[in-house]
Amino acid sequence: MRAAIHQAAGTVTVGDVPDPTLVEPTDAVVRVVRACVCGSDLWAYRGVIDRPAGSRMGHEFIGVVEEVGPAVTTVRPGDFVVAPFQWSDNTCPACRDGIQVRCDNGGTFGAPGTDGGQGEAVRVPQADGTLVAVPGGLAGIDDAILPALLALTDVAGTGLHGAVLAGVEKGSTVAVIGDGAVGLCAVLGARQLLGAERVILMSRHADRTAVGRAFGATDVVAERGEEGIAAVRELTGGRGAQHVVEAVGTPESWDMAIGMARAGGRVGAVGVPHTAPQLSLFPPFRQHLTIGMGVAPVRRYLPDLVERVLAGTFDPGPVFDLTVPLESVADAYAAMDQRRSIKTMLAS
Ligand SMILES: [Zn+2]
Repeated sequence: MRAAIHQAAGTVTVGDVPDPTLVEPTDAVVRVVRACVCGSDLWAYRGVIDRPAGSRMGHEFIGVVEEVGPAVTTVRPGDFVVAPFQWSDNTCPACRDGIQVRCDNGGTFGAPGTDGGQGEAVRVPQADGTLVAVPGGLAGIDDAILPALLALTDVAGTGLHGAVLAGVEKGSTVAVIGDGAVGLCAVLGARQLLGAERVILMSRHADRTAVGRAFGATDVVAERGEEGIAAVRELTGGRGAQHVVEAVGTPESWDMAIGMARAGGRVGAVGVPHTAPQLSLFPPFRQHLTIGMGVAPVRRYLPDLVERVLAGTFDPGPVFDLTVPLESVADAYAAMDQRRSIKTMLAS
């Protein structure tokens, strides 16, 4: 079968790889219907982190179950399923605590040595704990909601988790740092699911701002750094935002998050800190901040979000603004790297 392969920084190709097969009795094999490129795939593409040449790419996919191992009971061949970007058994203590990304038997799709989502099919370990079947199957689904379902594999749940960690609730005022797909989904989750009244999106790109406004951002601040902090303070009566979502993970974005949080406020951080921001403890200590952070346990939110998408009450699909065939995956990476695309979908 065909799959995306990391060759070197700046080079992702499509090549022939062995068809996935069942290895463990808890496995499933899923034929991919839609996949996509994640902002986090760009870390290796940009050479910020090392990745072995020849490793498979992608951790976001939806598809149809082709085969299941003898121990799998919750999905069957033919089921249309959404997979979170990590697999988990959903039964161990970490999973029961809702931290499925720290599962005792978990792992990440597209990590070196595993199948990536950017391919024609994927071996899914821990299928029972990982996959969520879409009622009605692929035949019962309008193609128009495929982008929304695909967004649930990572960015929709990750953005929502940032808002949850930031303590967003009905009537909250929230600042969101990051206008990538995750930041935009934090806006959507904060407004539509958690009931925030006011969402200030830090964004300076017109295409992203437009999606942010459509998702419910009430204010947009283009300034960054100290100017951005000052603008958010001005919009919040000089006090700062009670809730701040950090969806970037750089030293600059962390400085902004701490700087714009109101005394006693909460910061929810879901931007992976690959560039090693150094968090000085004194400013958040002085400001009485509560800081929550971590890779989002998207599986926790998945059943509820699938229902909402099917009901037509939650649509993160507009984060996708470009679709290319899998064979053109190099174009997808280039478009996202050059910020010509917020998020690019791969159609099989
Ligand atoms: Zn587990």
